[in-house]
Amino acid sequence: LQSKLPNVGTTIFTRMSAMAAECGAINLSQGFPDFEAPLGLREALARATMEGHNQYAPMAGLPALREQLAHQLQVTRGVRVNPDTEITVVPGATEGIYCAVMASVRSGDEVVVLDPCYDSYAPSIELAGGVAVHVPLSEDGFTPDWQRIRAAITSRTRMIMINTPHNPTGSTFTVQDMDELERLVEEHDLLVCSDEVYEHLVYDGKRHCSVLQWEGLRQRSFAHYSFGKTFSVTGWKTGYCVAPPALTAELRKVHQFVAFVAVTPVQQALADFLAAEPNYPQGLGAFYQAKRDLFIYALRDSRFAITPSSGTYFQLLDYSAITSTPDHQLCEQWTRELGVASIPISPFSQEPPERQVLRFCFAKSDEVLLQAAEILCKI
Ligand code: PMP
Ligand code: GLN
Repeated sequence: LQSKLPNVGTTIFTRMSAMAAECGAINLSQGFPDFEAPLGLREALARATMEGHNQYAPMAGLPALREQLAHQLQVTRGVRVNPDTEITVVPGATEGIYCAVMASVRSGDEVVVLDPCYDSYAPSIELAGGVAVHVPLSEDGFTPDWQRIRAAITSRTRMIMINTPHNPTGSTFTVQDMDELERLVEEHDLLVCSDEVYEHLVYDGKRHCSVLQWEGLRQRSFAHYSFGKTFSVTGWKTGYCVAPPALTAELRKVHQFVAFVAVTPVQQALADFLAAEPNYPQGLGAFYQAKRDLFIYALRDSRFAITPSSGTYFQLLDYSAITSTPDHQLCEQWTRELGVASIPISPFSQEPPERQVLRFCFAKSDEVLLQAAEILCKI
């Protein structure tokens, strides 16, 4: 078989989590919490399956869940979304993103991605027959460089993919960035695939900027969310996509033949939990900011240079004062020799990274974070 993705191997998350397990290392690599999801949510899942929510849901998702989501979007973002025509529940944001790309990108279309970017974007674009045009984020702060982005737009550009809060760097878009993006996509008639899975994990009084809040963006965007992040259930693989009716209709045409539906009892549990605890997502920012701060404080005497993450549950540590070893080698070496696993950022970019940084996930219990920091301080 001639591979359709000749340059793709097994994802860095799978490889580093496996290496961490093999070495008995503290696993701050793949992004997932090491603590339990809210008890009420787990009980709701048990109840949902015991009460018979075990057959196919409607293709677009359970109406009760989509209604809760529309209500949430009104409360948290101040936007009105029609749950019937604009929300689709999907088996994970990864599938939602894939379907949005498949529905929009034709052979030869160019899609701008901002490096470093999440590892599923470029392969999704390639499988659709498109071309990923990689534009690096600015070196310091990993923020969008609008001049370079503008210079990358051609008559074949169909879509731009953005991710705020940003995995792997923890940077976030500002209001000015969103204004720039809106001008750009209106001028060039582009679609936007906006990965907002970490929307509630924003720190230091900053506010998440969603494409749903800019009218010009709202009309052209697929916005993607993941319950895995918001409710600490990455293994439930459920998310949703918000897009205007015409885009949603096209996304659903693909979704119905990729997965058809997301898992029914999981959707019922999420709908029940959101009805009982509608403010739960709003508490996440403070919860994770405390974890970030604990981790950074515990590293205060280390040799790492640290710029606090603005969002996500990832913290970059700059190791340039310690060694010039390339990031992918160093993260394997430290997993084996020190017993702390992290993620290199080079697999997220086309070009080798300018900065010498590794990504550490702080969605872990305080004890685990302190234990890892103690080891990292000895380097
Ligand atoms: N986008 C980003 C930036 C992510 O970090 C993740 C987490 N895996 C996803 C998308 C995919 O989310 P899901 O697990 O819901 O597919
Ligand atoms: N999003 C998670 C991370 O960045 C991992 C998801 C995956 O393993 N595909 O670590």
